[in-house]
Amino acid sequence: MNLKTYRAKTIADALSQVKKDLGRDAVILHTRMVKVGGWLGVGRRNVVEITAGHGVNVRGPVVRQGRAPATQASAPSAPTELAPALAARAAAATDAYVRAARPAPAAPQPAPPAPRAASLASTAPLAAHGGPAAVAVEQELAAIKSMIARVLSGSARSRCGLMPAALHDMYLRLLEAEVASEIADEIVSGVRDDLPGAGCDDPAAVRRAVARRLAAFVPVTGEGGAPDRASDGRPFTVALVGPTGVGKTTTLAKLAATYKLRQGRKVGLVTADTYRIAAVEQLRTYANIIGLPMQVAATPAEMSSACAALAECDCVLIDTAGRSPNDHERLDELRAFLDAARPHQTHLVLSSTASESCLLAAAERFAPAGPDRVIFTKLDEAVSFGVLVNVARRVDARLSWLTTGQEVPDKIEASRADRIAGLILDGRVVS
Ligand code: GDP
Repeated sequence: MNLKTYRAKTIADALSQVKKDLGRDAVILHTRMVKVGGWLGVGRRNVVEITAGHGVNVRGPVVRQGRAPATQASAPSAPTELAPALAARAAAATDAYVRAARPAPAAPQPAPPAPRAASLASTAPLAAHGGPAAVAVEQELAAIKSMIARVLSGSARSRCGLMPAALHDMYLRLLEAEVASEIADEIVSGVRDDLPGAGCDDPAAVRRAVARRLAAFVPVTGEGGAPDRASDGRPFTVALVGPTGVGKTTTLAKLAATYKLRQGRKVGLVTADTYRIAAVEQLRTYANIIGLPMQVAATPAEMSSACAALAECDCVLIDTAGRSPNDHERLDELRAFLDAARPHQTHLVLSSTASESCLLAAAERFAPAGPDRVIFTKLDEAVSFGVLVNVARRVDARLSWLTTGQEVPDKIEASRADRIAGLILDGRVVS
């Protein structure tokens, strides 16, 4: 097999290089964004990197027992059962993509090699670089490359060698749960150290070891204690920030009910979400049901007086307005509200149903608000949980609470590392 790496500004350019160099039989093994150039992180830019091969033996035997000898472990291709179909789809999609993205050829082109490629190509406007068909193919390619990259991860093979079946199964489970491949690699090599000899042949022991290693990747704050007045003499003040619709108001109501009804604390609420009348009314309804004082702050000055009006409470919970992307003015305003409230904790609320890239974009957007912990909501609707670990690691924040349903006050729990590891391995919420 002949493996090569290509870098370009866009996926289309990188694919063109692959196509030109390796021809129609090229098989994409790995695609990723890498940062290049710059100095001390300034001026770095993203480029697409594609690792492609020619003449890949995708029908090679699957070896899943025992540690491989050194030469085998470093062999470049150790495909699993998934590989042939994926590689074939990738080749077809790559082919179709390149044909869809490039300018219309002057001379007639040879017939496409596979029926799938033919059907994709027939719907693709040949000159339309970036047209709908090219976009569709690009999406398909992105899905395929992500699967292939995970299954055939070169780094996983070099670090882990050929895996015993039980470990291999858990490794695939981590990848299916969308745990970042570098984290999955690290877990798997750690487990091999934990379970030497034939230890990795016992599925139950492997699962326990993987869960333990995985839990070590989950930073949590250990919430749960009743909030008391802060050492500065003010009520313990907690603000929730985050995009619209992630569940801030509902989560605030759950926290308020927990603190008041279960822990007997005197709780006050403030909402600064005055852009939506419904949001104020939503919180007022909860305040009335739970029996809490509530203040509305339309300006930072009103926020100061709202907090002062609740000075007798043990704990003040602040709801803020969601902010749309690129809404810098409103983000500045959010900062001003928080400066006036001086919260002791600021939780960034994120929905676990969102994609990793959306979550990271939201985290970046709300960074100026200075959140020091993350609440993940809607775990009951999430399809996979690996993103919790990936995002926590990328934004370097600890997880405080998880919410697992719409019902107030029940569907909230303190984040626990072992619980999140279990969710990732089981793939569903059992509450
Ligand atoms: P906000 O705009 O961030 O304040 O979000 P809301 O609190 O208004 O919630 C938006 C929607 O998400 C509402 O329909 C909530 O019932 C729902 N929601 C909140 N938390 C959860 C949760 O944990 N699971 C599910 N399934 N829905 C939730």
